[in-house]
Amino acid sequence: MADGKVQRLPFRQVIIIGAGFGGIDMACALKRKLNFENFVIYDRNSDIGGTWYDNNYPGCAIDIPGLIYQLSYAPEPNFPRVFPTRLEMLAYLKGTVAKYDLYRHVQLNMSWTTASWLEDEQRWSVELKNTQTGETFIQECKVLVGAIGHQVDPKDFFVKNKEEFQGHIIPACKYSEALNLKDKNVVVLGNGSTAVQVVPNILKDVKKCVQIQRDAQWILHRPNPPVPQGVRNFLTQFPVFFRLVQQLIFALIECFYPILGRRLAGIANGHLKKFEVPEKYHPLLTPSYTPGCKRLVFAVDYLQCLKDPKIELVQDEIAALRSSSVVTKSGNEYPADIIILCHGFKGDTFYYPLKGRGGITPSKHWDAAGGPSCYKGCAMSGFPNFFSIRGPNVSSGLVAASSKIMKAESMLKSNRQQSVIWFIEATTTLILNAAAPLILDKAALVEVKSSAELAYVNRVQAACKKGFWGRDCHTYYLTESGWNHTVYPWSEYLPAFSKLCRGELINC
Ligand SMILES: Cc1cc2nc3c(=O)[nH]c(=O)nc-3n(C[C@H](O)[C@H](O)[C@H](O)COP(=O)(O)OP(=O)(O)OC[C@H]3O[C@@H](n4cnc5c(N)ncnc54)[C@H](O)[C@@H]3O)c2cc1C
Repeated sequence: MADGKVQRLPFRQVIIIGAGFGGIDMACALKRKLNFENFVIYDRNSDIGGTWYDNNYPGCAIDIPGLIYQLSYAPEPNFPRVFPTRLEMLAYLKGTVAKYDLYRHVQLNMSWTTASWLEDEQRWSVELKNTQTGETFIQECKVLVGAIGHQVDPKDFFVKNKEEFQGHIIPACKYSEALNLKDKNVVVLGNGSTAVQVVPNILKDVKKCVQIQRDAQWILHRPNPPVPQGVRNFLTQFPVFFRLVQQLIFALIECFYPILGRRLAGIANGHLKKFEVPEKYHPLLTPSYTPGCKRLVFAVDYLQCLKDPKIELVQDEIAALRSSSVVTKSGNEYPADIIILCHGFKGDTFYYPLKGRGGITPSKHWDAAGGPSCYKGCAMSGFPNFFSIRGPNVSSGLVAASSKIMKAESMLKSNRQQSVIWFIEATTTLILNAAAPLILDKAALVEVKSSAELAYVNRVQAACKKGFWGRDCHTYYLTESGWNHTVYPWSEYLPAFSKLCRGELINC
């Protein structure tokens, strides 16, 4: 048990926080490219995997093809379906960690609480807390990498009389298999990518499911066909074809919006008819905003399940709880034993508990810039030798298609959902290019110039303004003040291929 004392751990050259795709890729890069071993990965969870460990809710699966949602140096052509399940992805990550002998570098149940820059020593002093024993540790390192994800902590659920509720309230990303849904009245809050996976997959058990959405979303049916064994064998035997198929899928996703953008509303409406969605729900599934204003929702079996009498979809907001029901703003009351929260993550708070030069915090740094931002998503001036993976503005953004194809300015910069893994790999390459001299003790310090950072951030924000994310819809891409902290507003081919541009990427 914790005795209140802070324990000092021996110095490490590199500390990585987070054992999701980002942290694992960073660790693999240290081993593969530098043959470097003096690093440790901390994660507050009890297992590795990040998103794919946490999100244990029924039906959790990947939204984009598994063939491109993987690390380039750990090819997996053997996913049984086009879109793998959460468990398949977790198995893939665990296999990669074992293959690169990373388990001995991983320390679980360790939460990063703060890190302070020690000017004289030119090191970070990192504070960690064991989530099980409460013990506190301090460890110094030369390079600190924050791979803490962007969709990790569920949004708060503030509601009147919450304490009166006798049932369970559980965020989807904290779902436990121990939760018994059999013959229960379940309320699902939200209608995004998580909700459309949860709802069809709990229906067989529950007595009744009321799904409460705040606004309509564009929901497109997307099948998940099996990948024939012959195809998998072929891709395994001929890695060159496998790479070609990956490039083809990546290119198709980049082109998705330019090709289909203007037809998406029609396609979504067609799906309502095709899957015989009850007419009463059509207005709830036909938003007034243009598809692409926010993340599109792809669903395998959601639209089909809306005919099930066990489900009721309503557009409303939860105003208060009673002991065994929810009361909505419009005054309706729905029985509830369990409330599953699928209303999103604390996405607008990039939480890096850092104290950089002179004690500056990221939020102070961002006040000056205008909002959460980073140089190429990974470096901030005032925070030397610190790098983030999946920091601000690294998420799927747009297809910069020619206006000849798009024929409309509003279509030029909009949404597409690409594999973030390619972006993660580009970022770790960039970090390694900049930090290798530090790691190998050939330099003491790497820091992005404030002017370079600001110029990059201004370019990103200017490009974001030309897009139409959040123009006529509410989206987590934007802060309340309209600052786009999420989207990478150019083609993802840029960072993917910038891997080749050694040394040019961090202006030190
Ligand atoms: C339900 C869901 C579905 C998704 N589907 C897709 C998809 O189909 N395609 C796609 O491209 N992306 C998808 N994403 C985005 C997904 O998060 C990324 O693809 C990817 O997993 C990000 O990896 P990461 O390592 O950056 O973050 P994560 O996987 O979130 O890992 C971050 C890790 O950091 C740890 N951590 C955080 N804070 C601390 C701390 N203070 N101390 C110690 N450890 C800490 C967490 O415990 C976690 O293990 C999805 C996300 C969710 C939530």
